[in-house]
Amino acid sequence: MFTLEMAWRIILAPMMGNDIRMGLENSYAALPERFFQSIRPTPVAAPALVKLNESLAEELGLDTDWLQSPDGVAVLAGNRVPDDARPLAMAYAGHQFGHWAGRLGDGRAILLGERIDQNGVRRDIQLKGAGPTIFSRGGDGRASIGPVVREYLASEAMAALGIPTTRALAVATSGEEVYRQRPEPGGILVRVAESHVRVGTFQYLAATNDFDGIQALIDYLVDRHYPQAAEHDNPVLALLEQIVVRTARLVADWMLVGFIHGVMNTDNTSLVGETLDFGPFGFIDEFHPDTVYSSIDRHGRYAWSQQPGIAAWNLARLGEALLPAAGGQAATESVNATLAGFRSEFESVFHQGLHSKLGFQEVRDEDVELAFDLLGRMQRGSADLTLTFRGLSELPGQASDQDQAIASLFDPPELIQPWLVRWRQRLAAEHSDDASRQSRMQAVNPAFILRNHLAQAAVDEAIERCNFSKMEELLEVISRPFEQLPDHPELYIPPRPEERVLETFCGT
Ligand code: AMP
Ligand code: MG
Repeated sequence: MFTLEMAWRIILAPMMGNDIRMGLENSYAALPERFFQSIRPTPVAAPALVKLNESLAEELGLDTDWLQSPDGVAVLAGNRVPDDARPLAMAYAGHQFGHWAGRLGDGRAILLGERIDQNGVRRDIQLKGAGPTIFSRGGDGRASIGPVVREYLASEAMAALGIPTTRALAVATSGEEVYRQRPEPGGILVRVAESHVRVGTFQYLAATNDFDGIQALIDYLVDRHYPQAAEHDNPVLALLEQIVVRTARLVADWMLVGFIHGVMNTDNTSLVGETLDFGPFGFIDEFHPDTVYSSIDRHGRYAWSQQPGIAAWNLARLGEALLPAAGGQAATESVNATLAGFRSEFESVFHQGLHSKLGFQEVRDEDVELAFDLLGRMQRGSADLTLTFRGLSELPGQASDQDQAIASLFDPPELIQPWLVRWRQRLAAEHSDDASRQSRMQAVNPAFILRNHLAQAAVDEAIERCNFSKMEELLEVISRPFEQLPDHPELYIPPRPEERVLETFCGT
């Protein structure tokens, strides 16, 4: 029977648009209201899809054809909000460059909701550049297409290297301009994360002695990410311990590929051990432990070699925020002991990583010293980190003509010779066979890293010409970093002097 309600639906349908459902859940929206602002993305003038990450979409169980349809693009750009979304901007605070910055929060990012992926993992879907929120602090809530492309490339590069990271599902242009130093095309990044909860989320609650809030966030984290902690006598300590372990492993992973995060503020430190917020990051070309790329990091606080200390410092801020819930003053010693676990976990993963990068299977006392000797020679000889390790992965166990290729990376070339002799003695001592050692080494020493000048060229092309061909070209090699693909040999080598990018601006 035709009812009045059906008639209304037919009349209202063109006005209201069709129902859009993306299988979203909204567990964060169920937390106390003070954890976030409920807010919808601000629509943009003319959304256009630049790039859809089809394999990630499939991992999330999303329909790739639909995502590219006008409705799908409208959702990705924030012009339509799915009917099962409860969009929100998360509240958090943080220490920036060591100074308390108070409340920060999502000033230009809006969480649409969560989707359970094909592996049963709950993943956040967030639009970055989706318009102002109460946390915008005078900012426009938007992003330029340049940093959006940079983050897309960087997060996919990290994921392909096997390093925990937020991911990028899509890039869209908004058809609007944003004003940075100059007008630039606006962009939106659709970011996927296991979680967007940060050290700064706890700091936000701790700053107002919101103990109920802290407990609610602990329960949320344990339930969603760390269920094993619930079994422990002191679940808060168990939670902290797990976060310490994941963070230590993450920083070790970064350092083994020469990654410098650039802004390891507490608001950019994930509580699930993912690389979060790619601003002025960089991958080292010529190895030097003090390398910094960020133009705002004048004192080298976030240099390559500083990252473990800084991560431990950030975790200490987390420990302070969790102390009351962990048992108050009486728990100080246990919290400190848990935080102290950072160093041993970091060293064990970093040393094990160096060991594998050098192709060893047995563990011997001298190995760490041998690895650091190599790093020291790379530093003195201005050798490229990636090419050196990749070059070693291709060398035979006996001195050969190929040694010249690796020696030529060092200035002077003889700098590496005595080290090569020691390395080969060490390989001989464990009766290493060349073919299997080389393939093991090539599986951990990437041929490709997202060098700054490459990312910059793709960003410039996007900003200046709204052209994304360099981005596409990079994505082909980014997805297979442990192979040297025959096309584009220029993508595997360090920048020429005139191509070097010495500083990276947040340029957000
Ligand atoms: P980030 O440096 O990207 O980690 O951001 C630090 C803080 O500044 C966060 O609270 C961001 O939400 C905020 N923020 C950055 N860019 C903008 C913008 N264009 N509009 C509003 N808030 C922003
Ligand atoms: Mg941030």
